[in-house]
Parts: sequence; C-alpha cells; structure tokens
Amino acid sequence: MTTAPPTAIAPLIPIARPEMDEREVAAARRAILSGWVTQGPEVERFETAFAAAVSAPYACAVSSGTAALHLAMKVAGVGLGDEVITVSHSFIATTSCIRYVGARPVFVDIEPGTFNMDPSRLEDAITARTRAILCVHQLGMPCDLRAILEVARRHDLVVVEDAACAAGSEILWQGRWERIGRPHADIACFSFHPRKVLTTGEGGMVTTARADWDATMRRLRQHGMSLPAHARHTAADVAPETYLDLGYNYRLTDIQAAIGQVQIERLPEMVAARRRLAAAYAGQLTGHAGLVAPVEPAWARSNWQGYCVRLPENLSQHTVMQHMRARGVATRMAVMCAHREPACPRETWSCGGAAGACDCGEGTCRKLRESERARDHAIQIPLFPGLADSEQARVVVALLEAVDAARAGT
Ligand SMILES: *Cc1c(COP(=O)(O)O)cnc(C)c1O
Repeated sequence: MTTAPPTAIAPLIPIARPEMDEREVAAARRAILSGWVTQGPEVERFETAFAAAVSAPYACAVSSGTAALHLAMKVAGVGLGDEVITVSHSFIATTSCIRYVGARPVFVDIEPGTFNMDPSRLEDAITARTRAILCVHQLGMPCDLRAILEVARRHDLVVVEDAACAAGSEILWQGRWERIGRPHADIACFSFHPRKVLTTGEGGMVTTARADWDATMRRLRQHGMSLPAHARHTAADVAPETYLDLGYNYRLTDIQAAIGQVQIERLPEMVAARRRLAAAYAGQLTGHAGLVAPVEPAWARSNWQGYCVRLPENLSQHTVMQHMRARGVATRMAVMCAHREPACPRETWSCGGAAGACDCGEGTCRKLRESERARDHAIQIPLFPGLADSEQARVVVALLEAVDAARAGT
C-alpha cells in the first residue's frame, strides 16, 4: 500500500513573535544568580527605567496588565455600585477589572477608523453613578485623550488609560510628541504579555503623577504590607511589618524585571521596525479587494502592536482566515467584544444613558454597532519586528487570494 506524499507546506508565519535573544538570557541569568529573585533591586531598576522612558513621575511594576488595571480601579476609588464608562470592543480584561471591584461597565461605541472609544458618545453615558472612564489605546493606537479628558474634567471623573498594548506609542501633546504613559490622563496601565510590544513573559506597570496612589498600589501589590520584604532585608534594624489593607499578590519577579530593562532599551528599534512594516501594509492593501487599513490620526503614532484589516462585509471572516491558514499565514479575529461573551451576561453591563434602560438583546446591542462590525469584519495579520519583507509579501498575497476565494464562495 502506498500513501500519498505529504503536501509541501511552507512554514507558518505566526501572528506575533517576541523579540528576545542572548541579551535577555544574560539579564535573567544575572537576576537568578543574584540571590534575590522577586520584587527586589531589579524591579526597582525596571520601574526607574520605565518611568524615565515614558516621562512618568511614578511607575509601579505588577504581575500583569490585568493586575495593573485592577489596582488602578482600586486607587481611583471605584467600588460597589459605581459605573465605569469603557468600550466593549477590547480584550476581556478591560471589562473584568471593573467587575472585580463590584462596579458596572457602561459600554460606548468605537470610531471605525481607529478602533478606539468614540468621545462623542461619552456625555450621554454619564449618570450620577459614573465614577471613571476607562479608555483603551487599542492595538497600540492612541485614543483621543484630548476629547475624552475634556468631557471627564467637566464631570469630575477619573480617567484610566488601558495602555496594555501601547508601550512606545506616541501622542502629539501641546506641540510635542510624547510617549503614552506620562500619563496624559490620571493613571496608565501597561501589559508585558508576549503578545505586546515590550515583554517580560508576564508582567505589567502602572504609571501616575500621584504619589499617594503610587504608594497605595505598592502596598496592595504585596498583600497590603506596610514594609516590603526587600526594605526589611536591607534595613539596619529589625523591622516588623503590619498589614494595612486587603491586598493581593501582584508581585513581578526580579527575573522578569531584568528582562524588562533590556526590552526598554530595544523599544525604539522594535517600534521603528513595526512602523515600517505597518506603512508597507497600508501601501500594499489600501484600495485592494475592498480591504480597509486602519487609520492613524495626525496626532498619533501607533506602535502597531496589532494590525487590523477590515474585510468587505459580505465576506465570511472565518473563510478568509481559513484560506490564509491553508496558505501558511496565521491570523486572529481582530478584537473581541466583551458584551458578546458568555462571561458578560446582559445584566452585568449597560450601554449608556439611563443605566440598563436599553432594550437590546443578549449578545447584541444596536448602540454598539461599530464595535460589533469591527468584531465581525476585521482580522489581525502578522506584524512583528522579525517579520522578513519576503514573509510580509507572502501575507499580502495570501490575504488577496483569500479574499478572492471567499468572494467566489470556495
Ligand atoms: C493584553 C491586554 C490586557 C491584559 O494584560 P495581561 O498582561 O494579559 O493581563 C488588558 N487590556 C488590553 C487592551 C490588552 O490588550
């Protein structure tokens, strides 16, 4: 019996790949051999370097972007019965952190070009219970902070930036290009998951200009302890600790923080490589086969953590992705919508106006039309610094062919 020879398949082009080499290995080694492996001197150095990189007065390292968001909700004073205005069109953690503190997410729609919060929807979503706005720099594209802050300041609301994807992104602020994270609002939360631009495996950072918030977050990340372990270790006198608040274990390890310091050094070159690739995609895709490339406003410089392409709406997203997979190109659904997920039943969220008064059904909301359209008709395509020009050309060909195939119904 003979078997058919295996079909030759070109190696899969992944959606993302972390940029790490012997420099990160050496940094991790240094931390491991130092004798202090969690929340010690390497974490302090990482915090100092990160604060300097984004011009923030304070930077507090934590174990993940989600932990960062949770602590931001705590120090912003968001609690039981409060409302936080945000977008459904984001990674689920944006919504989860609001629910962790017993508050209610109130979703507003996005702008189709940037996939970011539409500031013109904010005013209508504010109620007597609104405490904060949680805006997202989705896929690294800065959201319209100027317009968001204008509304927030009039209503005395805290603004938290979900900057999970936005390390190295820039915004034009009072005539100067500044990195996201200064922060331009009240608190900014970063993630260092491998899918983000700067990675430590897992990890996060919160930046703020408020010394009191920074101090509280430093306590909460370490069980509410009055004196962190490393401070006790280096103190001349025996120093007993007390537990001041209900805290968490959101510590970052020194091994991760050592890697993070190298990643900060790499950040400018990683962002430059991504911006070059994104410009090439825009040039090669715009106007072809009904595809629409994302829009970068004149006041924004994305780090292009993710690159989303809109497909013609009469085509099946799944079919296009399947055809690209068969051509050796990984893709992802663009960005999820929290309100579509079983984890967020209808009674757990509102969609603006008088809370809960919307008549929309389970899993769909007519006030979130642009969010749902982006969710259903856009895909993420590979973009990372190590993507070779020849690989990028393969992605473009695969996408154009997949659209043709989907259109032909094959
Ligand atoms: C990745 C991400 C998070 C969560 O970060 P983790 O480090 O995975 O906890 C939160 N919000 C957005 C928008 C993200 O992309």
